Parts: sequence; C-alpha cells; structure tokens
Amino acid sequence: MLIKTHDREQAYRKIINLALKDNRKYCNYCRKDYDPKKMPCCERPEIGTNAQHTKAVVIQCRIIRDTRDKDTAATKDNSIRWGVSLPPWMYTMLDNFERLHDRRLFASQEDINWFAKTFKAFAIPRKV
Ligand SMILES: [Zn+2]
Repeated sequence: MLIKTHDREQAYRKIINLALKDNRKYCNYCRKDYDPKKMPCCERPEIGTNAQHTKAVVIQCRIIRDTRDKDTAATKDNSIRWGVSLPPWMYTMLDNFERLHDRRLFASQEDINWFAKTFKAFAIPRKV
C-alpha cells in the first residue's frame, strides 16, 4: 500500500510524540527495562526514557552537522546526500509502522533524504 508523503509525516509525528511521553526508563544498549536491583543490566548501561535517549541523539547529530559539513560530498546535481541517526526505539517503532504497510523504514536513499528534510534534528550529512 502506498502512503502519501503528508500522511506518512503525520503518522510519524504521532508515533514519535506519543513515544516521547512514555516515561519508563530502560537501557538504550540492551533494551531491558530499568530495574535498580538488577544493575548493571549489561556491559554498557545507558539508562533513560525515550525522551532522554532522543535528546542525546539530537545533540550528537547537531555536533556532527557542525563539525563535518566540509566533508560532505555533493552528488552530481549538487544535492547533499543525507544520512540519519535515530535512537533505537524510534527506528523500531517507525519500522514497525512501515511493516504494517508492507514497507521497510529507509528502504531507499529517497526515503532517507525525505526523513532528513522532514525531521531535521536527526539529519547528518553522509560522507560518500
Ligand atoms: Zn543494558
């Protein structure tokens, strides 16, 4: 099933906004629920909520955009090739949404470019 770009953006925003309100803490590395009695949960514990894990990625993306723009290779038509960096929960939820429509998240470079333009906070210039 084909989803219109506008509808896809609205759906993504709903999914993301709902998930950002979820205050449960879990480990971003092993994805286990946070349980202070069972710490550490893994070799690289990163405990936080969806919002906290997201904030960390957004800050990282900004730093990458600020420092790497000179490395960006332009394509023949001078458009920038974009990459995206998402917190794992966001990738999983958006990919699950796409699977409901017999698609996968970021199935093509066009999908990535669209996402990078629509959700700029997660965009990073991609080195080619
Ligand atoms: Zn863990």
